[in-house]
Amino acid sequence: MKWTKTLIQTLRENPGDAEIDSHKLLVRAGLVRKVAGGLYAYLPLGMRTLRKIQQIVREEMDRAGALEVVTPVLQPSELWRTTGRWDTMGPNMFKVKDRGEHDFALGPTAEEVFTDMAKGVVSSYRQLPLTIYQIQWKFRDETRPRFGLMRSKEFLMKDAYSFDADADGADRSYWNMYHAYERIFARCGLKAVPVQADGGDMGDSLTHEFHVLADAGEDGIAWCEGCGYAANLEKAERRADAPSAGAPCAEPSEVATPGAKTIEQVAAFMGLAADAFVKSLVYVADGKPVMVCVPGDRDVNDVKLKRFLGAKSLALADFDTVLAATGANAGSVGPVKPADASLRIVADVSLKGATGRIVGANKDGFHLKDVDLARDTSLKDADFADLTIVKEGDLCPHCGKPIVIKRGIEVGQVFKLGTKYSGAFKATYKNDKLEEKVMIMGCYGVGVSRTLQAIIEQSHDKDGIVWPAAVAPYQVAVELLDPDDATVAKIAEDIETALEAAGVDVIVDDRAERPGVKFKDADLIGFPVRVVVGAKGLANGGVEVKLRSEDKSKTRIVPPDSAASVVRSLLQGEPA
Ligand code: ATP
Ligand code: MG
Repeated sequence: MKWTKTLIQTLRENPGDAEIDSHKLLVRAGLVRKVAGGLYAYLPLGMRTLRKIQQIVREEMDRAGALEVVTPVLQPSELWRTTGRWDTMGPNMFKVKDRGEHDFALGPTAEEVFTDMAKGVVSSYRQLPLTIYQIQWKFRDETRPRFGLMRSKEFLMKDAYSFDADADGADRSYWNMYHAYERIFARCGLKAVPVQADGGDMGDSLTHEFHVLADAGEDGIAWCEGCGYAANLEKAERRADAPSAGAPCAEPSEVATPGAKTIEQVAAFMGLAADAFVKSLVYVADGKPVMVCVPGDRDVNDVKLKRFLGAKSLALADFDTVLAATGANAGSVGPVKPADASLRIVADVSLKGATGRIVGANKDGFHLKDVDLARDTSLKDADFADLTIVKEGDLCPHCGKPIVIKRGIEVGQVFKLGTKYSGAFKATYKNDKLEEKVMIMGCYGVGVSRTLQAIIEQSHDKDGIVWPAAVAPYQVAVELLDPDDATVAKIAEDIETALEAAGVDVIVDDRAERPGVKFKDADLIGFPVRVVVGAKGLANGGVEVKLRSEDKSKTRIVPPDSAASVVRSLLQGEPA
């Protein structure tokens, strides 16, 4: 392919809305073009990479025995009503009407459509196990679309759904997809690590997210260098601190803390460290207020709290509810004698046995000191649980080594669904005794477009992208420095032909531009191999072959007719 025959626009300026490197490079290298917030058009270069990633995903799905299908983006509301998710998905789901006023969703995911499909197609255990997948655009009305393709309103996802006759089969399907994901990300040149995640409504259901570790990642991951334990912060556990068998303390007494609302403010006011305090928050769980207490230097983990309470819904309480439950406004509430004596109180396990703590007094502008949680509150042993977000330095629940917190970009997730969807749809099969049984499901997503950008985030330098060869828009750029010199142009053409014959994607930069411009663009776009063909170089013995990833000062001059084979061995990672 000749540069002048394709459509490449590189930009010198970073886009104004780009906060992270990969977003800047994506736009500057001319891979995508913004249409509106969270909506992007893929330009020819971006499209080539997107297709290569899709192809890797497709090959690995097929290798794992999954079958490709495609289902409509426009999904009838009836399917979503079957599981109740029409009402529970919330504002993230785009809802539209047809001219007959029928409701549809623009699919944010497709469990309902696939479960309905399996119900309609599967009747016998002989058809199981079954895994079906599609690579299809998904729509989510994200609160904050940002970071380019990382969190967009429309994105390409590979979603797969497995159907099994029994729990063992479902387990095999899960790990089959898990290993396929390992291969997909490795083939994309990505280091993606599987991380334990929370099963959400599905109770303790098994699920892993695949994360690309990067400072720009939106998710926190607890990481143990000792044993490899990795869990996202919603799920991560810690080795519980030994109960703090505190020394006996005096009776609680009031301290005026005027205007101090947060733990930081009260701690500063009293000249004490945050862990001398108990942070108390009022939530509403399934319509009822609950107070949760955690050490002053820790944060509540809503997911753990919700699970511990066994609640279907959980949110922070509004002003009126806090006032009615405790007698004070947020900032002055605490577990000792709240206004509503029947208020349920729960606390983080590390507060078990705590004495001499300072808590909100349930009276605006006051705190209580010398609080013994066992003596002065209604808290019983069963009210204590691990309810906080793990922090750097907490101890690994498995090996006891200190945990470090890393940032990750979630590029995929595998999930055991059990019978949540198949039960709702009555998606059954007949077993060998002709009994009707509900299928057991799993679902598996790869964010194909997010993966594209995650590759850039993980593989770039100050000059631009450094594409792994498998997903580069073109693997080789031939820099034709003298396009008007017929002999030189012929040599470039021969190298192009030889490489294309060997199945290598090549672009020949035949523009009438200065070498500096061409090299800058090649570095920015990040072609893995550069071949410089110019009259001067040829007079001095040959063409220059260079890997984008290697040191700039390294030169490799080869005779023109061996350039193609040198390039091929470099692409295969062999010394050349
Ligand atoms: P997140 O927590 O980042 O919002 P999610 O867990 O809701 O993602 P899933 O439902 O697991 O997403 O979807 C499967 C994959 O789709 C994710 O692992 C991610 O790679 C990708 N994805 C999800 N939301 C977006 C988005 N708004 N833009 C781009 N990719 C997305
Ligand atoms: Mg996910």
